[in-house]
Amino acid sequence: MAVVNLAANLARTAAQYPDRVAIRLDDTMLTYSELDDATKRAAGLLAEHGVQPGDRVGIMLPNVPQFAVLYYATLRAGAVVVPMNPLFKEREVAYYLSDSGAKVLFVWEDFQPGAKAGAKLADTACVVVDGSLTAAPPIDHVVDRADEDTAVIFYTSGTTGRPKGAEFTHANLMRNVEIAVRDLIQATAEDVVFGALPLFHVFGQTVGLNVVVAVGGCLTLMSRFDAAKALKVLQRDKVTVFEGVPTMYVALANHPDRANHDLSSLRVCLAGGAPLPAEVITAFEQAFGCVIMEGYGLSETSPIASFNVPGKRRPGSIGTPVSGVRFRIVDDHGEDVPPGEIGEITIKGHNVMKGYRGKPEQTAKAIRDGWFHSGDLGRQDEDGFYYIVDRKKDMIIRGGYNVYPREIEEVLYEHPAVGEAAVIGVPHTELGEEVAAVVALKPPATATADELRDFVKGKVAAYKYPRTVRIVGELPKNATGKILKRELRISHDRLD
Ligand code: AMP
Repeated sequence: MAVVNLAANLARTAAQYPDRVAIRLDDTMLTYSELDDATKRAAGLLAEHGVQPGDRVGIMLPNVPQFAVLYYATLRAGAVVVPMNPLFKEREVAYYLSDSGAKVLFVWEDFQPGAKAGAKLADTACVVVDGSLTAAPPIDHVVDRADEDTAVIFYTSGTTGRPKGAEFTHANLMRNVEIAVRDLIQATAEDVVFGALPLFHVFGQTVGLNVVVAVGGCLTLMSRFDAAKALKVLQRDKVTVFEGVPTMYVALANHPDRANHDLSSLRVCLAGGAPLPAEVITAFEQAFGCVIMEGYGLSETSPIASFNVPGKRRPGSIGTPVSGVRFRIVDDHGEDVPPGEIGEITIKGHNVMKGYRGKPEQTAKAIRDGWFHSGDLGRQDEDGFYYIVDRKKDMIIRGGYNVYPREIEEVLYEHPAVGEAAVIGVPHTELGEEVAAVVALKPPATATADELRDFVKGKVAAYKYPRTVRIVGELPKNATGKILKRELRISHDRLD
């Protein structure tokens, strides 16, 4: 069955709201008709490079309006977008391009050296894009796509190994956008959405860019999140929808300048991508007067799988599966665990990826009998709300006892001096693993490592509290803003 190409959303919105601002980065603004025209010309450029329907196109751009132009141009041509982090170096670029078999790579002018070298290694054409929009004879036509045709390939490590290309169809992404628009955000053309999440990541791309274009709203971009600048942008553009990962909420809730900004336009704040500590929800909601709706999903689930929806929200939970999606919580043998008990979250529905490109074995491991195995440990309460307990691979086994880092992090966040906290397992000869915490303080607050350790010790069972607390200036984060626990584990000394 044919479905509408995701790019048709832009053509429709441009016809309806030609003069509305679609996308903005500080002083650069594109109206819908300008965005649509630029997209047609970029589709012409793709044709000049011999791009055919089904071909893969690498887009390695930061959050600039040209990302949207090349993204919709690629989809318009029936080709497949391979979004890439603009900070990638030569080896990473070469890997993504060869693994996806990309025909051409578009790269932003500031990031070209590694990209050019990587493209050369992969024998892929490389086009440097600058601030002026590409000029080529325009192509008006939007190529029809079928249900099973891939639209975007998101690279993700999944639960293990090197990044794998998760393939998404137009139908996967379109349904997710429809749900976000209708059930979660109740988005309209009046909405201004804050876009600091990277457009190359599934969260920023689907819940930001695609939602905005589907309804005719405005996406106001930030190329790199910074709390002070974010407050200015939220006020300047009268942002109505904020979407972010927990580290952004932490930074905003703690920012001393918050009270000097008028943020009364904020209507809804969406969070996901990593655990959101209860303390942060409370602090942010008190400071900003806007509720946070937390959701859950993965690159492999387009991304939205569950959400707290208006009128049915339970803070601390990831809500309930969105329409058309089901969850099961299973043990290591794939058997359902009783309600209330912890197991792996498995997901079935229209949002689950087609598979990992060119990796049938890994796909078969991840999707069993139609159920995608998330690698996340969770439980369900008696009212059907789900809770993420932790990543399966982050769980610490200390002398045979399971310790869920998230539980300990929640306790650390209750301490008034703690800005950010990560709890990790560190190798230990006798116990297998020992519990350690790495913490960044909230300036100007002060606390000693011993004080923080004793704070947690007083609140949890003896086997759970961190034996060491390391205080650092900042925790390492990935481009989306998620704390990189793997790096912390690698850099931490053994504890025996
Ligand atoms: P990614 O594929 O990069 O989007 O990362 C997906 C992972 O982020 C999931 O497997 C979860 O471990 C984590 N995650 C996403 N949303 C939440 C949430 N609301 N609470 C806790 N963890 C989350």
